[in-house]
Amino acid sequence: MITPPGTSSADFAAALDGFREIVSPEWVFTEKEDIDLYKDAYSPFWGEPDERVASAAVAPVTVEQVQAIVRLANRYRVPLYPISTGKNLGYGGSAPVLSGSVVLDLKRMNRIIEVNEDESFALVEPGVSYFDLYNYIQEKGLKLWIDTPDPGWGSVIGNALERGLGYTPLPYRDHFGAHCGMEIVLANGELVRTGMGALPGAKSWQTYRYGCGPWVDGLFSQSNFGVVTKIGFWLLPRPDASLEGTITVPRHNDIHRFVALLAKLGAQGVINCAYWIESPFANTFRAGADHAFGATPDPEPAEWDVRAADKGLPSWAVRLCFHGAEAVVRAQWAHVQSEFASIAGATFSDGPLYRHPLSAQDLARVPKQVEIGVPNLAIFTAGARTREKKSPSAGHMWFSPVIPMNGAEMLRARKVFGDALREWGISPITSGLPMHYQERTFLMLFGFEIAHDREVNKKNRQSMRQMVALAAQHGWGEYRTHSAFMDPVVGAYSYNNSSLLKLHETLKDAMDPNGILSAGRYGIWPAHLRQAARQVNRRGDIQ
Ligand SMILES: Cc1cc2nc3c(=O)[nH]c(=O)nc-3n(C[C@H](O)[C@H](O)[C@H](O)COP(=O)(O)OP(=O)(O)OC[C@H]3O[C@@H](n4cnc5c(N)ncnc54)[C@H](O)[C@@H]3O)c2cc1C
Repeated sequence: MITPPGTSSADFAAALDGFREIVSPEWVFTEKEDIDLYKDAYSPFWGEPDERVASAAVAPVTVEQVQAIVRLANRYRVPLYPISTGKNLGYGGSAPVLSGSVVLDLKRMNRIIEVNEDESFALVEPGVSYFDLYNYIQEKGLKLWIDTPDPGWGSVIGNALERGLGYTPLPYRDHFGAHCGMEIVLANGELVRTGMGALPGAKSWQTYRYGCGPWVDGLFSQSNFGVVTKIGFWLLPRPDASLEGTITVPRHNDIHRFVALLAKLGAQGVINCAYWIESPFANTFRAGADHAFGATPDPEPAEWDVRAADKGLPSWAVRLCFHGAEAVVRAQWAHVQSEFASIAGATFSDGPLYRHPLSAQDLARVPKQVEIGVPNLAIFTAGARTREKKSPSAGHMWFSPVIPMNGAEMLRARKVFGDALREWGISPITSGLPMHYQERTFLMLFGFEIAHDREVNKKNRQSMRQMVALAAQHGWGEYRTHSAFMDPVVGAYSYNNSSLLKLHETLKDAMDPNGILSAGRYGIWPAHLRQAARQVNRRGDIQ
């Protein structure tokens, strides 16, 4: 059996006995076949000594059990790694950042405590998945939408703590941004409620987020300062209709006005959906051997325009979706068209209009159901075995830099990353074009392949590290990262001699002096592991 680093076998055995007393023996897992389930299914260290593994797992069902486990972990200095549903694929799965930690598996805490239709919110526990919340709302016939990421099996809380994203209007698709009120078990076992939740008998815990005094909620996302046991989320009252429309523009340099208008209309709230910038021309000029992004450089703008015109393809396109009252979404689309008509040669095509709620038959015809808040797992067909793709990949890890929302910077990122990928001879899953999920910025997603082949993984890990450094040189940082890259990614946020990281470490030392919670998550190591973690990271040998 693996023991947690720094914990004696005797102490570990005593802690496990204590955990069994708290949750009953059947909910403490120590057998290899059980522990292996907590490995990262998309591990970039597949089959290597550095693959992250748990020493055991414990699955409480009440907040009091979580408190008792945390207190016992302090007594025996046992590192814990809380997960909600543990489906964080592409970013580390359910494996702890520090091998040998005990996974604190919160899946059994799966109560939907309240869904309030009149005030449009839900209060849930960590084990509640998007499927659970959606089904609950459907069964009760409530006129509310949830916002879901592509994989519907994840946890509403776990995803929000990672600052995950979905597709419906803001603030709902920014899952952390749409939260309102938390309950947290601190590292010393104390229970805290944030915002209005600190007021005994509060009537607006899920509707007014700030309470009075410092607002600490952000400290519990992408961190390791507490175990979150409840969160409230604002929900979107079900819109009457959704209307799609697509815009294209002909020339390469139209991108500047194109993006400027998207940004302006987004900031005004006229456009309020997730979308992708597409390039019908760039997507096709690489057809054949040079298919992947970066395989060949983009032509200079003048040549680009000639070739795009020859093929009769627009340079840029975007598909938008408006949600709301039918008259309003029609007016939004009309206004958007009038604004983009200032770009010579812009075209507009009306997409479908959906009237909600959709019948099962109509819903089945919606190509991307997450755009209307319906959870599913369709995204996983993307990497599946097909007639053309004989050997599906074993997964991928995401590199996800935030790029300013302007045409020049978008083109710069496309060139910088494209040139680098060509030089390194790799082709991650990406269009090399940005998506718009977060308010006011673009996200460029790159999926670096995971293989059951150590050499491929080694090369892709190296490339990930290089991408992080390259992005930082240009002022682009990641919004979230795989657990294997938390140190370099957070390390790039180094303004003023890494004063932000130092602040996080000061908080860690004060709030979790024994360093029992999620050691290493987002680069925050407890004091006793800090030096060693830095050395490993500087040498880069685990990457
Ligand atoms: C093909 C594919 C598509 C994807 N699409 C999307 C997408 O559209 N949007 C998106 O956001 N993500 C996406 N992901 C990433 C990921 O699958 C989801 O974000 C997923 O919801 C995260 O898993 P989870 O919800 O089970 O969170 P968990 O794995 O439970 O939690 C994530 C991490 O948060 C911390 N944590 C969780 N719960 C607690 C708690 N209660 N207390 C303290 N710390 C906690 C832990 O460190 C944990 O490792 C995608 C992944 C793949 C492979």
